[in-house]
Amino acid sequence: MNLPSKSNDPRLRWVDAFINADPPSNLFAEHAIWRDYLAFSWDLQSFEGRSAILQALPHHRGDDLTIIEAHTAHEIIFSFHGTHGRIKALAEIHDGQCVRLFTSLEQMKPRPLPKTDAQEADKAGVLIIGAGQSGLALAAQLQAYGVPCLVAEQNPRIGDNWRNRYDSLILHDPVWVNHLPFKAFPDDWPTFTPKDKMGDWLEDYAKDLTLNVQCNCTITAAQFDEANALWQVQAEQDGKSISYSVPHIVFAVGTSGFAHIPQIEGTASFKGQQSHSSTYRSGASFAGQSVAIIGATNSAHDIAVDLVKHGAKPTLIQRSSTHVVPHKVYLDNILAPLYGPEHNRTLADADFLSVATPMRHLEEKGRAIFKKAQQEWHGFYQSLTNTGFALDFAEDGSGIIGKYRRSASGYYIDVGGAQYVIDGKISVITGKGVKDITPSGITLDDDHHLACDAIIYATGFGSMEEWVSRLINKDTADKIGRCWGYGSGYRGDPGPWEGELRNMWKPTPQQGLWFMGGNLAQVRIYSRYLAMQLSHNYQEAQQQ
Ligand SMILES: Cc1cc2nc3c(=O)[nH]c(=O)nc-3n(C[C@H](O)[C@H](O)[C@H](O)COP(=O)(O)OP(=O)(O)OC[C@H]3O[C@@H](n4cnc5c(N)ncnc54)[C@H](O)[C@@H]3O)c2cc1C
Repeated sequence: MNLPSKSNDPRLRWVDAFINADPPSNLFAEHAIWRDYLAFSWDLQSFEGRSAILQALPHHRGDDLTIIEAHTAHEIIFSFHGTHGRIKALAEIHDGQCVRLFTSLEQMKPRPLPKTDAQEADKAGVLIIGAGQSGLALAAQLQAYGVPCLVAEQNPRIGDNWRNRYDSLILHDPVWVNHLPFKAFPDDWPTFTPKDKMGDWLEDYAKDLTLNVQCNCTITAAQFDEANALWQVQAEQDGKSISYSVPHIVFAVGTSGFAHIPQIEGTASFKGQQSHSSTYRSGASFAGQSVAIIGATNSAHDIAVDLVKHGAKPTLIQRSSTHVVPHKVYLDNILAPLYGPEHNRTLADADFLSVATPMRHLEEKGRAIFKKAQQEWHGFYQSLTNTGFALDFAEDGSGIIGKYRRSASGYYIDVGGAQYVIDGKISVITGKGVKDITPSGITLDDDHHLACDAIIYATGFGSMEEWVSRLINKDTADKIGRCWGYGSGYRGDPGPWEGELRNMWKPTPQQGLWFMGGNLAQVRIYSRYLAMQLSHNYQEAQQQ
């Protein structure tokens, strides 16, 4: 711990004024950003600019101040007691003014709750749809907060969502960033987890934490009963129709639940095999074949490499450019600076620092990382573009940092596939869309015909809001609007600027409807924030 010793330390003076001054008008720089996660409202929000901050900041901020750490020359981490409980905060101070403030509810005020049986489905306060990493982590958090919940999973076994993916799939993220809440991966776990091992881990996770999961249980429809503020939910379990009545439902159905296959003329005429990337398992059955892969991002590359290894000849059809991020760049610049084991930081501390960075600053960070990467990896990128491959770093240069949060698409984390492209083992046709499909192949926009024996659609997945349309109705989906994206105004993420991922882990425009999702690190971090919101709602309802 590194406590500032001098009482004239500008950071200490700032914190003291933040807690005590009224109003704190000159404490924030003109362009300051304040990100608040449940400290002052039951929402995840970002406020940009002094006047927006001062408008949102309440009169009474809190008391019982503790200085935790002078984190860097300009940053200070402190905690105080606020209306919702214990708040942890990070402030970045320059010339006596705050340019960045993050306030986070760390420990909710305890409230006595009436006794309930968390295992009773019909008393569930929360019904979670989907027992992937998102649903399970949220269930674990809710259990810890004493909120009864049930997780419905359509697959026969927990973990099938990973088991059913292609055989060669190994997670890109290292184990040290992937731990789920309450149960860390063991020390001897491989750095990069093979997909079946991930599936088995999720199954063990649910068992060890005694989570209330119903498998073979498909949620088929849900309607909100306004009068009683309850969701009437229909499900099919083991061939029987069942129903639930719950105040809150959480969509934890992932973004890869249903395949997105573009409607292309002539599809039915094709003589060979056609499939979506989600059903691809291995290249074994494609040996000796020419395979056209429509798409050129993560799955397309992984599948193409696997096909080459099985003696097939893949061609990527790349309609628009792809951001390629070498795995080493991803690890060394994006994950390791906060989470790398060499820092000896606790996961909780790394998570706190991770979310203390607002979107604008993340974008800036992304631009700096990929400006440097383009210089350091110049030869590699040059070789790749020499093949005709269309490369980008996102419109603003922020690379995967921007793209992941905007649309979670348009990139390839390169674990070797780019070299296959450079070496000509994977062919690429660039800048052309598919015009139609013929019995023997694909006609491209420029009327060039690509003969092939099989077609794989690596064209992505339906959106989360589409799930709402399918399971509830279109009106509710329209009311909620987009999920994910923060209004950057760039490709796949139209404005207005929101500064937080839309509808994710926070209240949505529809009462009692929530979304949980993300990669393993996000799931660990945000399951806690969502559980605290649901716990707050649950407690309020119990008091009535
Ligand atoms: C090919 C591929 C490779 C990936 N590689 C990586 C990687 O290397 N590293 C990484 O961190 N992430 C990776 N991801 C991304 C991400 O981590 C996963 O998509 C992750 O599975 C998301 O977890 P989730 O729990 O939100 O959703 P999912 O894992 O999709 O789980 C959703 C669950 O909901 C269930 N469900 C859906 N509808 C219903 C219904 N109506 N009723 C009941 N149950 C329902 C599904 O059966 C499923 O089990 C990859 C994704 C894909 C597709």
